[in-house]
Amino acid sequence: MKKNTKSFSKNIASFVLLLLAVVVLFGIIASDIFREVEEISLPRLAEKVNEEKVEQITVIGANIEVVLEDERVATAKKEPDVSLFESLTHWGAEPEQIRKVDINFREEPDWSFVLTLAIIALPLLFLLFIFRSIFKQAKGGAMQAFDFSKAKARVFGEEGTPKSGVTFNDVAGLEEVKEELKEVVEFLKNPSKFLKLGARIPKGVLLMGGPGTGKTLLARAVAGEANVPFFEISGSEFIEMFVGVGSGRVRDLFSNAKKRQPCIVYIDELDAIGRARGTGLGGGHDEREQTLNQILSEMDGFQQDTKIVVLASTNRPDVLDSALLRPGRFDRKITLDSPNKKSRESVLRIHVKGKPLAPDVDLKEVAERTPGFSGADLSNLANEAALLAARKNKTKTSQLEFLEAIEKVLLGPERKSHAMSDKEKELGAYHEAGHAVVSSFIPHAEPVRKISIVARGQAGGYTIKIPSEENRIKRKSEFISEMAVLLGGYVSEKKIFGEVSTGAVNDLERASAYARKLVKEFGMSSLGPVHFRGEREHVFLGREIAEEKNYSEETAAKIDREVMLFIKEAVKQAEEIVKKRKKLLEKVAQTLIEKETLEREEYEKIIGKEAKKEKKGKKK
Ligand code: ADP
Ligand code: MG
Ligand code: ZN
Repeated sequence: MKKNTKSFSKNIASFVLLLLAVVVLFGIIASDIFREVEEISLPRLAEKVNEEKVEQITVIGANIEVVLEDERVATAKKEPDVSLFESLTHWGAEPEQIRKVDINFREEPDWSFVLTLAIIALPLLFLLFIFRSIFKQAKGGAMQAFDFSKAKARVFGEEGTPKSGVTFNDVAGLEEVKEELKEVVEFLKNPSKFLKLGARIPKGVLLMGGPGTGKTLLARAVAGEANVPFFEISGSEFIEMFVGVGSGRVRDLFSNAKKRQPCIVYIDELDAIGRARGTGLGGGHDEREQTLNQILSEMDGFQQDTKIVVLASTNRPDVLDSALLRPGRFDRKITLDSPNKKSRESVLRIHVKGKPLAPDVDLKEVAERTPGFSGADLSNLANEAALLAARKNKTKTSQLEFLEAIEKVLLGPERKSHAMSDKEKELGAYHEAGHAVVSSFIPHAEPVRKISIVARGQAGGYTIKIPSEENRIKRKSEFISEMAVLLGGYVSEKKIFGEVSTGAVNDLERASAYARKLVKEFGMSSLGPVHFRGEREHVFLGREIAEEKNYSEETAAKIDREVMLFIKEAVKQAEEIVKKRKKLLEKVAQTLIEKETLEREEYEKIIGKEAKKEKKGKKK
């Protein structure tokens, strides 16, 4: 930027200079034409000749230039078609006197020629000047854009380049991952230690993990720790609209890296190029193939003592080309899981740094309430909490804002303005109460934390449970319980109003997806332990589309039947609860209509009271 302004002011200077030159040139020409001189008539001139006051007369075309005895200059007009001599004698000058005067004749200078020249030359000069200044500027900035084959890698950790500013301390949790990466850093700092033992350090390390799990952050931390040059480029930057750019950029990137060993090359979002070849998807796959091939051949070209480590990250390892994953390339694969409770707390701790907190803030509770949140979600959560506090003109963020922020991140902002008719309110209240009550009394119950009929994001209302923490392995009965809770809203609506509204669309979609997974992927149906492939999610992204279903149409029909059975089972369970707890359901719904939002304590109070009443009723 600075460079550009500089050359711009330089251009202005040269422009002013040019203008000045033009003005001066014109001045010289014009001074000749417009010199201010006295004009005298021919009779006066004849008189002056007689008085011997004229030294010299020059005839220039139709003009007469007269130099008088006192060196003054005057002009006069000559009569056309008559000689000067005749003219003067005619006006009464003595021939003798005329002969005394020094008379000259000069050709009229052709000013029109000079003028034409100027008219042609000036715009030309001007154009030339404009072009020159454009090129000058282009050289500075835009010209680089013309050189497509240059990789636009960001370089960290070298003299004259920015520090990445991130260290392992800024990354919470992920301890094993950090250990692995520390080893890589150690190699780059002290290669002989490893080479002496004949160890070969992995050429490529692939970080795999969902979006927002901290892959980019971790790579930057490596850059900050390693103290070696760190080239960062995103996979998508290799691919542009011009064919052949990608492989050129790879070549350029690696030749730069080789010059500056030891160093790290980081390719973010590798799946943008490393997608399985030959799927012919997404257009420009030829380009991607060439780029990928170039990366592979560069990595194969590494010698035993090449001190370059290629770091890459992806959130779609399933679509990566198998050639990338072969030993000798990205042979070390590290998975970044979404953080568990303890890690979530430490991620939060990192992101509340520098944010003033009220004493009641309990990050452990926040961590407990955010299963499934990624590092990025948590960072977002901490920020939202601070924003909410600021909106309330508080000086410190308190727990209340953190809890509110969870919902905001989870479901989107509250839409209080979303006006509801009484009818809608009632419908929503019974729907949410259905979810809550089923959730409270289903075998694998999860406590309800909050119920609300205030619209949030896409949802018309919501019921938030406290999920049992991170049980990655789920049993069939747990899935069915979960489906029953999802269908609780639908069942409740049907029971109370005798018909169903459109409010249950999302619930049904999710319940059906669960059921389908149980049958096709988990082998939990009567079809037995078979994994049925095809027609999966992300059909669009890469390989799956080329993937045929691996089962027949008959099996497909069977799968559909099994899915129906699971749904029916879940509906049955939900119906039983709603029937048995109808009073409680009504009570919860009425309270919801009144208060719109129920926190855990209020909800549990209602449940407790009803349970007591039930006991009394049974005793009678
Ligand atoms: P991705 O895996 O998609 O590359 P990023 O590394 O870009 O995710 O993470 C996004 C943001 O989330 C980071 O800038 C950071 O603020 C936060 N984050 C993610 N994981 C962690 C973590 N383990 N510790 C601290 N912050 C994290
Ligand atoms: Mg990233
Ligand atoms: Zn619902």
